[in-house]
Amino acid sequence: MRKAVADLHAELVRYNLVAWTAGNVSGRIPGEDLFVIKPSGVSYDELTPENMVVCDLDGNLVEGEHSPSSDTAAHAYVYRNMPDVGGVVHTHSTYASAWAARGEAIPCVLTAMADEFGGEIPIGPFALIGDDSIGQGIVETLKGHRSKAVLMRNHGVFSIGKDPKAAVKAAVMCEDVARTVHVARQLGEPLPIPQDDIDRLYDRYQNVYGQRSPR
Ligand SMILES: [Zn+2]
Repeated sequence: MRKAVADLHAELVRYNLVAWTAGNVSGRIPGEDLFVIKPSGVSYDELTPENMVVCDLDGNLVEGEHSPSSDTAAHAYVYRNMPDVGGVVHTHSTYASAWAARGEAIPCVLTAMADEFGGEIPIGPFALIGDDSIGQGIVETLKGHRSKAVLMRNHGVFSIGKDPKAAVKAAVMCEDVARTVHVARQLGEPLPIPQDDIDRLYDRYQNVYGQRSPR
C-alpha cells in the first residue's frame, strides 16, 4: 500500500491536477484500522514507499519519519465513517475548483458523467481545516450519493473509491468533466440528460466494468 500510494501521486502530476504540494492520496490498509498517506510538504518527485506515513483512523501517526499531510484529519474521518471506502484523494484541480469557488454543482450533461458519477457532482459545505469539519462535509455530501467526488465550497475536490487507484480515477474524471462543462457554458447552456438515461448509463457502466459503488 505504501508503494501504491506513493506511485499514484505521479498520476496527480501527470494529469495536471496539482500545483506545488497541494494534493494528496491515501489508501486504507485492508483488514486494518490504518491508512497510508502522503507526508506533509514533501514534493511529488521525492515521494517513495519508505517516506509514506501510516496513520490510525483517528489520524494519529503510527509509522513514519515525517508528519502526515495536513489533510489527514479529513481522510481519517472518511475512513471512519465510510467503511467501504478504500482510497481518498484531494486536489485543488483548476476547473473543478472553479466550480467549487462558485458553489455550483457540475450538472450531468455528459454521458461520461452519467457513467462515472451517476449524476451531478455535488457541492459540499464551506469548511475550515483544523478539525473534523471538512471530513463531516465530505461524508454528509457523499453518503447515499452516487458521485465519488465532492466539490468542497471555496476549496477543491475530494474523491473516494474502493481503493486509492479508483479514487485517483474519480479525481481525474472530475477535472475532465469540470473543464468540458465549463467550456460548453462559454457558448450556451449545456443540455441536461434525462434521469432515466442517466440511470441506464450508470448501471451499464458499473456492470460492464465490474465495479460496484463504494457505498
Ligand atoms: Zn485543500
